Amino acid sequence: MISIHPLTPKYITKYSLAYTDGVVHLSTGDMLRAAVAAGTDVGKQAKDFMDSGKLVPDEVIIGVVKDRLDESDCVECGWLLDGFPRTPAQAEALADAGVSADCFIFLNVPDEVLVERVVGRRTDPETGKIYHMTFSPPEDEEVLARLEQRSDDTEEKVKVRLEQFYANVDAVKGSYTDIYVEVDGTKKPDEVSATIVKAIDSVLA
Ligand code: AMP
Repeated sequence: MISIHPLTPKYITKYSLAYTDGVVHLSTGDMLRAAVAAGTDVGKQAKDFMDSGKLVPDEVIIGVVKDRLDESDCVECGWLLDGFPRTPAQAEALADAGVSADCFIFLNVPDEVLVERVVGRRTDPETGKIYHMTFSPPEDEEVLARLEQRSDDTEEKVKVRLEQFYANVDAVKGSYTDIYVEVDGTKKPDEVSATIVKAIDSVLA
């Protein structure tokens, strides 16, 4: 399934035929949260920025992504970058490393909708499943009791995250005008997925 993450542009390449499970999904947010949880050097450098809703410095994240793209699963199966590049320097670093994509998908969602989605978002630490307290509540009390909220999923932090997004988005988009596809992210998840799949199919046809 293609990940829907409306705060960030999406960058997709080398989609294999079975793109529901064929490519490696690289979410830089997930990678950084894992690094913070594991207490690695990258995690230590990233933590305070993430907690405040700010972008992690380019020099911290760029190396992580480049190294990951060089691993054999990405080289063999292709990849979907979710949440990267988020700054012009990150886009430039990919280009300098000779990394190119087939399709850049921009999920467009108004700020007020994003805030509502983010503030209601919860994760089940046992299954990794993501819920929304209003739009997709958990099936039972047991799951409800163990749900966790990301520390940056508050209204206050989302405002900072949006500021960071607006400071960079035009420059990032500008690097991908030839492969840019804009998708209305306010539609139902199935519709959004179908539109993305169609866009990818058409660039790979
Ligand atoms: P996300 O899970 O995509 O919402 O990302 C969570 C947080 O991780 C962001 O608010 C940033 O602090 C950090 N982060 C994720 N991707 C990047 C990136 N490409 N550049 C800088 N910081 C990032």
